[in-house]
Amino acid sequence: MHKRTGIFCVLLAALLASATAAQSAAITAIKAGRLIDPETGTTAINQVILIEGEKIKSVGANLAIPAGATIIDLSKLTVLPGLVDAHTHMAITYKEQPENNYYYLTYVMDSTPLRAIQAASNGIQLLNAGFTVIRDVGNNGMYADTALRQAIEQGWLPGPTVIPSGIIIGGTGGQFWPTPEMYKRHNIVYPEYIDANSHDEIVRAVRENMLFGARTIKLCIDCKPWGYSVEDIKLAISEAAKGGCKVEGHVQTPEGAQRAIDAGIYIIGHGNALTPEHHRQMAEKGIFLAGTDTPFTKYRGSEAAFKQTVTKLRSAWEKKVPLTFSTDFDYWNERMKDEKTGEWMSRGDLTIAFLDTWKAAGIPPADVLRAITINGYKAADIIKERGPIKPGFFADLIAVAGDPLTDIDALRNVQFVMKNGMVFKKDGVMTPEKFFHPGPVRMPSGRYTR
Ligand SMILES: [Zn+2]
Repeated sequence: MHKRTGIFCVLLAALLASATAAQSAAITAIKAGRLIDPETGTTAINQVILIEGEKIKSVGANLAIPAGATIIDLSKLTVLPGLVDAHTHMAITYKEQPENNYYYLTYVMDSTPLRAIQAASNGIQLLNAGFTVIRDVGNNGMYADTALRQAIEQGWLPGPTVIPSGIIIGGTGGQFWPTPEMYKRHNIVYPEYIDANSHDEIVRAVRENMLFGARTIKLCIDCKPWGYSVEDIKLAISEAAKGGCKVEGHVQTPEGAQRAIDAGIYIIGHGNALTPEHHRQMAEKGIFLAGTDTPFTKYRGSEAAFKQTVTKLRSAWEKKVPLTFSTDFDYWNERMKDEKTGEWMSRGDLTIAFLDTWKAAGIPPADVLRAITINGYKAADIIKERGPIKPGFFADLIAVAGDPLTDIDALRNVQFVMKNGMVFKKDGVMTPEKFFHPGPVRMPSGRYTR
């Protein structure tokens, strides 16, 4: 070896070693005035959370903070896991006029790329409100949902961890009632829905979604009178399991609910058709409910619909169904403004406003907190990686003033957000700079290339 090259190599090795040492020493210490464990509904005082890179290293009252650690002082705040919306739609924003609840016009006029950019914006707004995980279950055009998940995972931009379903699978028509012209000549159902009628088509549809990056599967159980049988649903569940996906069933009739329960579905989406007897069976089988419990506000709903939603949510809670916080948010109208300030509400404000329903149902804050965190992580099937503020888990956490265990409205004003160990919001202000990159910072590390 040439002598100068040898010295160069030694220098390089030393540099690399010190760089590695610096990297492994990159520790953040959070001083938490109060730390909530939503699983048990308990609070620990004056805790230190040590974070190394993306993950939590240790948590405790008397931890020594290593020299050189970055200290974040949240000693006046309450720290808890990031929030979860267990049923939402990031890449559809249908307009109230003329298409309320039909969204044919959105689908014809808004391209998938446009909708994907809307989804990216919605993701940032949700993260700002403390939502670090969302289940995004369909109506995202041609896979804007799985693209959003990839983009966030690769480090292009900030956003929650997205659990996307890909395209909703249903019997002929999906949730649409198209004309013969539009259906037969233009296949207008696609890409909002995949028609899957036979067993072969169900298997193919599940596989296609997983091929294109789905992490959960969404079925229309009973969007049409021909719906899916118990046998059909069981087939989808077993096929999805091969790709590591759990199944959510969109349910809108009592009969459909019973078939979904009998088939052993993982999550039931929408609570309106469920009876107390369904609730009893769901609790017995441990089936999650994503009730999509819309509050009655100036911009949405009716008093009668709200009353029914509140009664159903209350019944589900009384019967001990595993509840998740879920919104089904996918719309926009001119009235979505803060009543006091007259300013537009953000997608985050609109999402956390669903707390109104939980309060009206008289559900104790500790149970709401469990639904919006731990149960959401379980329903998203990522509880082994994210959620608990414990060693080995991803550092996804938020902080609020006040105590959400006594006043759940404290969640409406999130002061601090950390995602994957990076600070996204501090002192109530977004600080997203570190999340933006001109190229992917992480290549796929999962089971698949997508
Ligand atoms: Zn939905």
